[in-house]
Amino acid sequence: MIHAVYPGSFDPVTRGHMDIITRAAGMFDRLTVAVARNLNKPSGSFTAEERAALLCRCTENLPNVTVDVCDGLLADYVRKTGADVVVKGLRAMSDFEQEFQQALINKKLNPEMETVFICSSVEYTYLSSSMVKQVGTLGGDISDFVPAEVKDEIIHRITNRT
Ligand code: ADP
Repeated sequence: MIHAVYPGSFDPVTRGHMDIITRAAGMFDRLTVAVARNLNKPSGSFTAEERAALLCRCTENLPNVTVDVCDGLLADYVRKTGADVVVKGLRAMSDFEQEFQQALINKKLNPEMETVFICSSVEYTYLSSSMVKQVGTLGGDISDFVPAEVKDEIIHRITNRT
């Protein structure tokens, strides 16, 4: 029984995140999507509860996936939940450097923790949450970037935020 954790900001969830979630759900017995409550939240962000609610809607049909909000160190969260593996998505070499450093630091903080990287599907390598927010704020069409079931909610939130 392998329990994997997929951590991130998911601010908001994109089709790139869903690609990783769907594939990881097929690889591991149980997957927890852990929404990090950002301490230094960039302006215009969704709250952690909003980000988690969007992810819950998108993962409803994946029975081995749950969504949680996590505070503090990922290494502590993994220890506390008893998870076996951390899953990260890799878009390009630019992601790799930071992810590699993070994986090594996490291993130092929690030697039992393993990090597994899943390469982005080619059609999502350019996609990021910040790009979705930028395009949405400027009135662009984000249909191809975010899951269909939460598109309207994301647009509503982006256009009505303070
Ligand atoms: P971002 O704000 O850059 O989208 P997140 O913190 O929400 O980043 O990402 C969480 C995890 O998902 C990270 O491992 C990140 O590399 C990965 N990820 C983000 N976008 C994609 C994508 N389009 N394809 C594959 N993995 C992705």
